[in-house]
Amino acid sequence: MRSERQLSMLALMGVRLFEPHSHRAARSGEMVHPPAARGMGQGPIPLRGELEHPPGPPAARGDGAALPPARGDVASMDWAALRDAVAACRACGLCESRRQTVFGVGHRRADWMIVGEAPGEQEDLRGEPFVGPAGQLLDAMLRALGLTRSDGPPERQVYICNTLKCRPPRNRNPEPEELARCEPFLQRQIALVQPKIILAMGRFAVQSLLRSNEAIGKLRGRVHRYQEVPLIVTYHPAYLLRNLVDKARAWDDLCLAADTLAATDRSRA
Ligand code: URA
Repeated sequence: MRSERQLSMLALMGVRLFEPHSHRAARSGEMVHPPAARGMGQGPIPLRGELEHPPGPPAARGDGAALPPARGDVASMDWAALRDAVAACRACGLCESRRQTVFGVGHRRADWMIVGEAPGEQEDLRGEPFVGPAGQLLDAMLRALGLTRSDGPPERQVYICNTLKCRPPRNRNPEPEELARCEPFLQRQIALVQPKIILAMGRFAVQSLLRSNEAIGKLRGRVHRYQEVPLIVTYHPAYLLRNLVDKARAWDDLCLAADTLAATDRSRA
């Protein structure tokens, strides 16, 4: 639940407050039923992606040395194999300048999946997404919703990753070819996590997941779908650091995501 300090800070920002049903219920003394266990470590995970969305044709292959794993191979990898494949990937030129790959962090069966753009300098150094200034803002926004990247049950601990797993030199924008080569890894991460909600932050996450070149401002404020998973579009935290006025909109986007997830949970109960 939010602290008094958070509540007053958000109220001061004129930000709409989202209060999950369970919190409202806890305050009012209403009985709250815990969400059903999601089978962590209880045998093979049924892969929604495999059943309903057969993998596309193998990615175009170039010279032998730079072969990425074929799209179909990636689509059947478990977490360990996927992490190894990302770490060993030399499918595009970014492998030449990266210090290390940046795979993802958080709960492997998280309700919330956050997808950003690409590692920056700090992420390339530490091997974890969103650990620089943009990540600090992201963490603060997540905290305000009672979410965390570090520990907790799948409804509280999010999973965070990027469209690209390697840092583009000097933080330039990802190239279409790089996005295409990295895409099977992101697709597989989503299939393994099976999130209940995806938050796509910034235009490259949106391009990868929604195949849309529309401006974020046009796409935010409604519920999209990645395959069958509800997807909310929002501004990238690095953009928000430069454009403070859009922070309140980003907060609205997070509230929309939380409302959407709560509605999904209610409809499944
Ligand atoms: N920006 C991103 O999109 N991802 C990171 O991991 C860091 C900054």
